[in-house]
Amino acid sequence: MHLIYKCKQAQQMVSEGLDRELSFAERARLKLHLSICDSCTNFNTQMQTLRLAMRKLRSDSIDSKEQTK
Ligand SMILES: [Zn+2]
Repeated sequence: MHLIYKCKQAQQMVSEGLDRELSFAERARLKLHLSICDSCTNFNTQMQTLRLAMRKLRSDSIDSKEQTK
């Protein structure tokens, strides 16, 4: 097994991290890749920003419709 993700794997992990909790090992390896790769760091930043925007949109629409959870 390779210790450092390739860019494709790193971006896959970033995407998956939006849908599920990554394991400690996955996060550690992703972080390691991001520390040496600018393009994936940019990708990660964009995805995190997008996720925050999506979450805000979602919570706004929930507030206006129903108050469950
Ligand atoms: Zn990369």
